Amino acid sequence: MPDPASTIEELTAQRDRARQEFADLVARGLKLDITRGKPSPKQLDLSNELLDLGSGTDADGADLRNYGGLNGLPELRRIFSTDLQVPVEQLLAAGNSSLELMHDALVFALLNGVPGGSQRWVAEPEIAFLCPVPGYDRHFALSERLGIKMITVPMTSDGPDMDVVERLVAEDSRIKGIWCVPKYSNPDGTVYSDDTVRRLAAMRTAAPDFRIFWDNAYAVHHLTDDEAEIADLLALCAENGNPDRALVFGSTSKITFAGAGVAFFGSSPANIEWWLASTSKRSIGPNKVNQRAHARLLGDRDGLRAHMRKHAALIRPKFEAVDKILSAELGGTGLARWSNPAGGYFISLEVPEGCAKAVVAKAKEAGIALTPAGSTHPYGDDPSDSVIRVAPTFPELADVEAATAGLAVCVRLVATEKLLADKQS
Ligand code: PMP
Repeated sequence: MPDPASTIEELTAQRDRARQEFADLVARGLKLDITRGKPSPKQLDLSNELLDLGSGTDADGADLRNYGGLNGLPELRRIFSTDLQVPVEQLLAAGNSSLELMHDALVFALLNGVPGGSQRWVAEPEIAFLCPVPGYDRHFALSERLGIKMITVPMTSDGPDMDVVERLVAEDSRIKGIWCVPKYSNPDGTVYSDDTVRRLAAMRTAAPDFRIFWDNAYAVHHLTDDEAEIADLLALCAENGNPDRALVFGSTSKITFAGAGVAFFGSSPANIEWWLASTSKRSIGPNKVNQRAHARLLGDRDGLRAHMRKHAALIRPKFEAVDKILSAELGGTGLARWSNPAGGYFISLEVPEGCAKAVVAKAKEAGIALTPAGSTHPYGDDPSDSVIRVAPTFPELADVEAATAGLAVCVRLVATEKLLADKQS
């Protein structure tokens, strides 16, 4: 295994060995894909009953198949209220995708302004969002699409580096928001500490209409029995005199059907009123048939937890396999570090600076598709070119194992070549 203290001769021998391993890997003609965090077909099958469950009337006797009920079915909102940490009356159940709701929240803020703001965001010369990195590529793509400048903030094991966040938001009134995935974050599986959540709720912001986009996509997605809990942002914002700061998002995409689930939006009473003022122009009501089916399938919060344990049983072995293979192949070499999350959908692999793009390219040559390097950063630009996101849920276990072993070969090859080039220069 390469060691930065190795001689040129030793490194050359190691590089040659890695080249041979890589040639053997390419010769296997693999065709594997660990790019996106999709549920596997077996996970989707866990919810097939949904297809038969969505009929009836609401509490007022209105036919679910008809228009109306903009807030979503209360029975479903009740099931998710505790885990999303939003009181039922402030939690709305909507259509299929929480990403759509985040998009809408930004568009409503740009075009109409938000409570507490003096003008529409689009009227400001420039607006910016803080982006903890590594983070979720679609948050960044959405911000870029809507012309929102992105300012990166490093992640720590407790969430975003709050010293940096507090300093930036206090001094720069262009900064209108921050993207947060507070539990089992995408891609590194970080759980925000209580202190981080408290500081986010209490910090002084130069922008009076600052918003935290609290994307709690993995609120109930535990992989172990040690179920992470985070502090209640919405309540802490209210306690600290910033009641309208938090916009909470969630969905059943990785609970039931990723393409046919239910998304949730929760916030303060003023923000809910603001939201409904716009959404009531946009829609005559959500898909309540699907919401009823979800409420029947899950039953209550205990039913939701039992359902999530079935997911964990299917995907935990895949996460364990990635950790085991990376430990066996790269452990102790100093060539890579990786997260070992207790929930969520992703593993973040860190390779030596300047190597991530080359590793992803080599993996592609060997028939292993990985998320493009850089996608964990705004504008697709990871300045250290070192972070690779691994998404192990969708492929079968044997394919996850083969892809991870192949990935380790690519890391060894690229990293030894770089060490050798650095040594020779
Ligand atoms: N937020 C995060 C952090 C995600 O990882 C994902 C899916 N990869 C989403 C949101 C997408 O959610 P939805 O399917 O509800 O649009």
